[in-house]
Amino acid sequence: MEPSHHIEPDAEAPLDFIRQIVAEDVQSQKHGGRVITRFPPEPNGYLHIGHAKSICLNFGIARDFNGVCNLRMDDTNPTKEDVEYVDSITADVQWLIQGWADQVLAFKRAGDPTGTGVLLNQADGQKLEPFYASDYFPQIYEFALELIRKGRAYVCDLSPEDTDAYRGSPDRPGRESPFRNRSIEENLDLFQRMKAGEFPDGARTLRAKIEMGSPNIWLRDPVLYRIRHADHHHTGSQWCIYPMYDFAHCLSDYLEGVTHSICTLEFEVHRPLYDWILEALELPRALPHQHEFARLNLAYTVMSKRKLLQLVNEGRVVGWNDPRMPTLSGMRRRGYPAAAIRAFCEKVGVAKRENIIDMALLEFCVREELNRTSRRMMGVLKPLKVILLNYPEDQVEPLEAVNNPEDPAAGIRQVPFSREIFIEQDDFREIPPPKYFRLTPGGEVRLRYAYIIKCVEVIKNAQGEVTELHCTADLDSKSGGATSNRKVKGTIHWVSAPHAVRAEVRLYDRLFTVEQPDADAEGRDFKSFLNPQSLETLRDCRLEPALEKAAPGEGYQFERLGYFHVDPIDSQPGRPVFNRTVTLRDSWAKIDQPSSRGPSRR
Ligand code: ATP
Ligand code: MG
Repeated sequence: MEPSHHIEPDAEAPLDFIRQIVAEDVQSQKHGGRVITRFPPEPNGYLHIGHAKSICLNFGIARDFNGVCNLRMDDTNPTKEDVEYVDSITADVQWLIQGWADQVLAFKRAGDPTGTGVLLNQADGQKLEPFYASDYFPQIYEFALELIRKGRAYVCDLSPEDTDAYRGSPDRPGRESPFRNRSIEENLDLFQRMKAGEFPDGARTLRAKIEMGSPNIWLRDPVLYRIRHADHHHTGSQWCIYPMYDFAHCLSDYLEGVTHSICTLEFEVHRPLYDWILEALELPRALPHQHEFARLNLAYTVMSKRKLLQLVNEGRVVGWNDPRMPTLSGMRRRGYPAAAIRAFCEKVGVAKRENIIDMALLEFCVREELNRTSRRMMGVLKPLKVILLNYPEDQVEPLEAVNNPEDPAAGIRQVPFSREIFIEQDDFREIPPPKYFRLTPGGEVRLRYAYIIKCVEVIKNAQGEVTELHCTADLDSKSGGATSNRKVKGTIHWVSAPHAVRAEVRLYDRLFTVEQPDADAEGRDFKSFLNPQSLETLRDCRLEPALEKAAPGEGYQFERLGYFHVDPIDSQPGRPVFNRTVTLRDSWAKIDQPSSRGPSRR
């Protein structure tokens, strides 16, 4: 698949095809005009940017149609799931929809086993928790007994391998299990004994009795229940049989009164089974309907939780919330605003055709949001000392700097200026390339908010490396001053050396070197495409003094360098750690591409 590079935002887009269906259902008073959606992650990993698309769709529809959306842990697989994941998922969903759709997020009262939810804003101080499919295990078990009584499910003694072999393949019909025609009484007895723990894992399953000759493989007597002697993060040791996804999902939707069960395209082939189960049970209430859309794929990363877990377990990243990860917690730590992720999901849109989205679209959305909201600051990542020979030694001038040109209400601040400053090493070249408008020997440049300076002497160490510059300042050339309107081509940022705050700054690049790390034609593991340069740590950065009090979770634009976010985990008081969220798009990057400025963007 070719990545799509050109996605135009379309503010007046017509309703996507799922919203069209919902609008028609509301119009025709299906489900009494009500809309209940759900977001059903399996708590076997952290949420990623793909999940964000599903969250935005499900919560967005509830929001647009006056409905509610349940957050439900789809937790039918005890061995892979954990409360750590439940907690992270809950926090990530709330973060992503905060201020946008939190009013439609339905939770349930703690300990309430039924499917009735309450909206978070009507909680009245009660403890709320997400829905759990595992809370419905008793009801789902009853539904299984009911299917057996109706002659539509049976206990099968085939081994897992034989069950697979008997199922056939899309071009090969299945064979009926020799246990298919057990009596209802025998099935009831065996199923109850499965639940009572009389049989080991894999000894028996409960299967739907549908059609072994069906062209749809999911209708060839699918397994509904399996034996798994394992503790469950939410139900403890209560159960040793667990329902399969296909059996639990439609029934959980039904029990919660879900009207539109929205999922990704790979479930399209499961839809006949979804409908079969609900219809076979002859249920009294209106049934939910499943609708499928294309999943989000993003270039230069992986999104399978299994693969992300490997990166975490093998120490290839610092954790699920590593700022390079495509997880929501990683993106939050890196400084991606929730609003930018939502804007990205909106631009990607909802359709039935899969494609691969370029990371540049996500970065575009992040920049747009941060440009509007971030205060500007000055910071020097790779410092080079500059002494202004004609500037008085003990003088400190408070210069006025604009906090955010996009937002006049953000006001101005004072930045101290003195005789000794730091500039960026990359802003000086002894032998400048063509069209280099920064500082050169004998050349002039403007210091942002301050004076025009001229380099008069270059100091080097024994290795011939530049260690210090001696300059003179044109003291009549102060920015905004009336005495001089002299212009020079370049303007660079700086910090006053005695006032500067020391900080660590982490620069990030793509986690993988290839667009689709999953597609390893030569049979290579996806991890062989990890980018060894995805993290660069700069430990001696100097920032303007206002940043000494930067609080964890705050973000700033460092002028000319990009957007930076205080790392909430590794920052110490007085010694902040900043993550570069995203670079700026700027013209001089084309002239000269020092490593600290990250990779070229197409
Ligand atoms: P994985 O296969 O990595 O475990 P998953 O699809 O099984 O991922 P779930 O926790 O089951 O993950 O997903 C919860 C919901 O999010 C499902 O409805 C699923 O369809 C949706 N979802 C998951 N990945 C994406 C994606 N890349 N784009 C859009 N929706 C997604
Ligand atoms: Mg899944």
